Amino acid sequence: MKIKKNFSIKDFNTFSVDVKAKYFVEISDIDELKKILKDFSNEKKIFLGEGTNTLFVKDWDGIVVKINFLGKEIVNENENNIFVKVNAGENWSDFVDWAVEKNYAGIEGMVMIPGTLGGAVTQSIGAYGQEVKDVLSSIEVLDIEKHKIFKLKPEECDFSYRYSNFKGDWKNKYIVIASTVRLDKGPSLYSLAYSKKYGRYKSVYEDLEKMVGDKYTIQDFAQAIKRQREKKLPDLEEFGSCGSFFKNPVVDFKKYEELEQKIPDLQPYPLDNLGEKWFKIPAGKLLDELGLKGYWNDNVGVFEKHALCIVTNKNASGTEIVDLANRMKKSVEKNYGVELVEEVDVLPKHFST
Ligand SMILES: Cc1cc2nc3c(=O)[nH]c(=O)nc-3n(C[C@H](O)[C@H](O)[C@H](O)COP(=O)(O)OP(=O)(O)OC[C@H]3O[C@@H](n4cnc5c(N)ncnc54)[C@H](O)[C@@H]3O)c2cc1C
Repeated sequence: MKIKKNFSIKDFNTFSVDVKAKYFVEISDIDELKKILKDFSNEKKIFLGEGTNTLFVKDWDGIVVKINFLGKEIVNENENNIFVKVNAGENWSDFVDWAVEKNYAGIEGMVMIPGTLGGAVTQSIGAYGQEVKDVLSSIEVLDIEKHKIFKLKPEECDFSYRYSNFKGDWKNKYIVIASTVRLDKGPSLYSLAYSKKYGRYKSVYEDLEKMVGDKYTIQDFAQAIKRQREKKLPDLEEFGSCGSFFKNPVVDFKKYEELEQKIPDLQPYPLDNLGEKWFKIPAGKLLDELGLKGYWNDNVGVFEKHALCIVTNKNASGTEIVDLANRMKKSVEKNYGVELVEEVDVLPKHFST
C-alpha cells in the first residue's frame, strides 16, 4: 500500500477531471483499510470504487481511498437460489457476466453498468427493470469510528431509486466491504410470450425476436441489453462521462397531465407503489425537447444519443461540467416547472447543482 501525495486522480474518475488529492491510496484488504483509518483519522476521506458516478469539482483536500477488495464466493444454495458473497472492489459488470454464463438469473438486465459492487450498492443501481436492492440478501460494512465489521439487512439501508443510506446519513459512517447477492436458478429458456413484449423495454424484446426468435436464453437477453447500451450510452474510451447525470423526476398526476400536453410521446412510468397516481418522467425526454441533445460548448456537452448524459472530451474541468449541469437544470425548471436532482455524487457537496 503506497500513499501518494498531491496526486492527480484524472485516471480514477470517468469524467477524467484532472484534480489533485492531498493523499491517494489503493487498498486491497481490511487490515490496510483499518491502518488508513487510524493513520489518517484527522483527514477528510472519500472511499472510491471506479469513480464512474463521482464528479470532483475541485482538488480533494483530504485522502481518496480506492477500494480494491477483490473476490467472490458462493456462500449458500437451495433449490431455487444461489447466494454469492461479492467483495466491494469487484467489477459489477464482470460479476453479471459470470452469473449469466452460469445461468444464474436476476441481474442480467444490469449488465454493462460500469463500476464496483461497493458503488452499485451505495448508488442503488438499476437498469431495464432490475434493481440491485432487490437481489441483496445482506451488506457487510465496516464502521469507520469503531472499526467493527457487521452485516446489515437491505431493509435497514433505506434503498430507493438511486438512493441508499450509504449515500446519505451513513456516508462517513460505514464503508461497504462486501455484499451477498441472491440469484435465481432460472429456467434455461424463456419465452417472449411471458416477457414484457409490449411494455417499457419494447426495443429489447424486438431485438431478441429479430436475433433469436420467440424463445431466448438468459445469455441472449444479456447480449440484447449490451447491444441496446452500446447504441445509447457514451463509450468511456472516447468520452468523459458518469452516465445519467440526473435522476428521472417523479411527478404527481396534475403535473404529469400538464407535461403530457406539452410533450408528445412522453413515455411516463406509473409508480403504483406510491399509493396515489405518481409518475416517473424520463428526464432525458425533457432535455431532448429543449433541444439539448448534441449541444457542445468547448470541452463539455450533452451526449448526442441520450440527453441525460453529460459528456466531455476528457479535458473538461469539474466547474465546466457543473456549469452545464446547472444550465440544464434551470432550463427544465423554467420550461416545465420540474426540479432535476443529480444522480452523480458531486464533490465537495456545496458544488452540487
Ligand atoms: C456510461 C455509464 C453508464 C451508466 N449506466 C448506469 C445504469 O444503467 N444504471 C445505474 O444505476 N447507474 C449507471 N451508471 C452509474 C454508475 O455506473 C454506478 O453508479 C456505479 O455503481 C458506480 O460505481 P463506482 O464503483 O464507479 O462508484 P464511485 O463513483 O467510485 O462511487 C460512487 C459513490 O459511492 C461511494 N462508494 C463507492 N464505493 C464505496 C464503498 N465500498 N463503501 C462506501 N461508499 C462507497 C463513493 O464515495 C461515491 O459517493 C452509469 C455510469 C456510466 C459512466
